[in-house]
Amino acid sequence: MTPYPKSPVMGQMMDQPLLISSIIEFAARHYSSNEIVSRRVEGDLHRYTYRECEARARRMAHALQGLGVQMGERVATLAWNGYRHMELYYAVSGSGAVLHTINPRLHPEQIAYIVNHAEDQYLFFDLTFLPLIEAVAAHCKTVKSFVLMSDRAHMPTETKIASLLCYEDLIAATGDDYAWPQFDENSAASLCYTSGTTGNPKGALYSHRSTLLHAYASAMPGALNVSSKDSVVPVVPMFHVNAWGLPYSVPLSGAKMVFPGAALDGKSLYELFESEGVTFSAGVPTVWLGLINHALQNNLKFSTFRRTVIGGSACPPAMMDTLIDKLDVHVIHGWGMTEMSPLGTTGGLQSKHLALPKEEQRKILQKQGHAIFGVDMKIVNDDGEELPWDGETYGHLYVKGPWIVSGYFRDEGGDVLKDGWFPTGDVATIDPDGYMQITDRSKDVIKSGGEWIGSIDIENIAMAHPAVLQAACIGVAHPKWDERPMLVVVKRPGQEVSGEELRGFCEGKIAKWWLPDDVVFVEALPMGATGKIQKNKLREQYREHKLPTA
Ligand code: ADP
Repeated sequence: MTPYPKSPVMGQMMDQPLLISSIIEFAARHYSSNEIVSRRVEGDLHRYTYRECEARARRMAHALQGLGVQMGERVATLAWNGYRHMELYYAVSGSGAVLHTINPRLHPEQIAYIVNHAEDQYLFFDLTFLPLIEAVAAHCKTVKSFVLMSDRAHMPTETKIASLLCYEDLIAATGDDYAWPQFDENSAASLCYTSGTTGNPKGALYSHRSTLLHAYASAMPGALNVSSKDSVVPVVPMFHVNAWGLPYSVPLSGAKMVFPGAALDGKSLYELFESEGVTFSAGVPTVWLGLINHALQNNLKFSTFRRTVIGGSACPPAMMDTLIDKLDVHVIHGWGMTEMSPLGTTGGLQSKHLALPKEEQRKILQKQGHAIFGVDMKIVNDDGEELPWDGETYGHLYVKGPWIVSGYFRDEGGDVLKDGWFPTGDVATIDPDGYMQITDRSKDVIKSGGEWIGSIDIENIAMAHPAVLQAACIGVAHPKWDERPMLVVVKRPGQEVSGEELRGFCEGKIAKWWLPDDVVFVEALPMGATGKIQKNKLREQYREHKLPTA
């Protein structure tokens, strides 16, 4: 990129780089006694303050220095949401190295691939992942040592791992005299690979500057609205796009942080939310299924939990209605992607919407939302020409902004930008008020007779049926129309519904030619590493499926 021109008169403000270490320093100094509570994989609840977190992160940064980790070198984690993972967020990036968070749900071969691609020097992991590490360690060529994120008492007596270190030993062996280094804010800070539904995973390499700007913007009232009055549970994993930036935006706001560890079932989450006075949370739609079911089945209400952001895939309107109307939890629909750090838009009402009837308001809340400051977006046709913001015309969604990738790590995939815009791979409409609504991922759009059918709309309607737990709509080959929509449905336990009934349920709610040609029932849907339905797997599975209309 060409540098921007300089004015002959420059501002006279301190030239202080925007560094990740400054967030934890700030929290430790200004919200020193506010807590970080973690459900540990060891089983118990651990609690300490921001002051202690910062001190231990600094000791770990010191230890990394002792291990010879240089600026820009990658240090990987394979871990749940917890305080040690949080310490590494700051120790690794704060010391100038690059934190590479790995999704443990990836196939072991893919894990080895990205460790080698990133040239990770050290790999920190939770006790749960010991068998996984033992299986992949020999294939991770650049890793000098693996570090078990636990204390001496939990170290295995025997292991196949050639070099295994103990996290608490590393912390105990260093002094307190480390000071966070200052360096260029555009330095790389963390690395996250896309889940790579097609081809190999590609790395998004965030900088200190991009991370800080994203944290500022996402904490704002119009976005996630995090403040020091909040107690926040990131249910979204810290290996999924940095838990949507919460490990940065929460301490920056002085809020209490509550980490659920590996216990993500409805009962465990409910108990944690109640015992820690949780007010705000964040996660993909599938994790809310468990919590909602637990609450409804046991007639439970939340005492303090009042807001959640749901994103990563479309929040089904039926889920939003249940949370708002039955459980008194307001839903912020969020949209973004790994390449966007991840936040791009958040749903919410503006003052002019407040007098609208509830149903109209709900339609606005169901959209993926309004751009947060820092993100610009547009929709374009196949020739790249911009399309109108009328809420009806749909096109390819392009974005730009200071926390959006300009390319992938190691130039994987070559030039990705189009005239300075990043093509998201999503298809969307934007209304005159700037609210964006995703109709589909371009890969998932169903092409019927030369026209596009949005699968998300059909899924949302199906999931509003009381007997439907989950639904995915895919395009299946049709001799006349090319593709026709088909619903793949998981029923709620103990509930019955037929394909005909479901088709009837959709009638009148969508255009007639969007009605699914077939409905099949399955026990479970294939889920990807980030908790999303793998439609590519479904398409593969039903490639030879004969539709009744064919
Ligand atoms: P991956 O692309 O590897 O699956 P990401 O988490 O980066 O992992 O996924 C980003 C994609 O997820 C977006 O491009 C979009 O298709 C989808 N997505 C995210 N949030 C939403 C949402 N609220 N509604 C619909 N789709 C969403």
